[in-house]
Amino acid sequence: MVLLDLAWRTRLPFRVFTLDTGRLPEETYTMLETARQRYGISVEVVTPDPAETCAMVKEHGPNLFHIGPELRRMCCNVRKVRPLDRKLQEFDAWASGLRRGQGRTRAAVPKVSENAGRLKLAPVADWSAEKVNAYIKEYDVPVHPLFEQGYTSIGCAPCTRAILDGEDERAGRWWWEENTKKECGIHFAPDCSDGAYI
Ligand code: SF4
Repeated sequence: MVLLDLAWRTRLPFRVFTLDTGRLPEETYTMLETARQRYGISVEVVTPDPAETCAMVKEHGPNLFHIGPELRRMCCNVRKVRPLDRKLQEFDAWASGLRRGQGRTRAAVPKVSENAGRLKLAPVADWSAEKVNAYIKEYDVPVHPLFEQGYTSIGCAPCTRAILDGEDERAGRWWWEENTKKECGIHFAPDCSDGAYI
């Protein structure tokens, strides 16, 4: 939401899209509507291919992510990575709210990178959690309803929990998996094949 607020204050034209995996918590839809009302914008909702999702669920069941890391990555691929890839075909550049302080897998996130001729921006890559919170307070930015319950990184409902004292910001994502590989693949290859964690 900080990224959206920053973009909105530039008064330059921009588009906002979000991935609806089909497994999001109800509070995220509330947040989506809050953003629409607060900023007076349209939010483009990107959904997985129904045929791919049906085939995956038919073969492996709805909760395949608990069977093992390969099937977890398959679910993320079908519900997130492939829909995002399709959506990005419409853009020459896009921005995300990645921050280096979110955990080890994001420690070296560049502010600007390029992939297949498309620019990827991370304007708040060098912001600390304290700076984010100060910005939210100063500009009265809407906050996800789950944030105050300890959800410092929010994804799909069955794969997200609140963090415990002392845990890093993304500890509540796929908490049953090894910490160094906890990415869904929309920013880095979850199997580390792109070298993002080295
Ligand atoms: S976060 Fe969980 S439910 Fe969501 S796409 Fe990934 S494995 Fe599937």
